[in-house]
Amino acid sequence: MRVSRIKIESFLVKIALTREQEAGCDDCARLSARLAQAMLAENIQEPELIAILYHLQQCIPCAEEFKVLNDCAQMDAEDSWPSFEEMWRALGAGEDAPLP
Ligand SMILES: [Zn+2]
Repeated sequence: MRVSRIKIESFLVKIALTREQEAGCDDCARLSARLAQAMLAENIQEPELIAILYHLQQCIPCAEEFKVLNDCAQMDAEDSWPSFEEMWRALGAGEDAPLP
């Protein structure tokens, strides 16, 4: 699966150049679905969305949430959701980890 982080990093220069708008966690929650779609289309033009990308560089909770959302959007677009068995095995890989 393609890694969203690489894509995000490729926008860093653009972000640095257009950083007029500051986004917060609320904006991030509001616009993250749109950003995920824009990333899939590889077409991020709106300053609003670029501001969210910038926020994701700095806010770890938002970045983690966005990664999940982005992975889901990608699997939806590619119709590549793992099977139940694959997910189960993936969970099994963390078997030794303490329960939350
Ligand atoms: Zn945030």
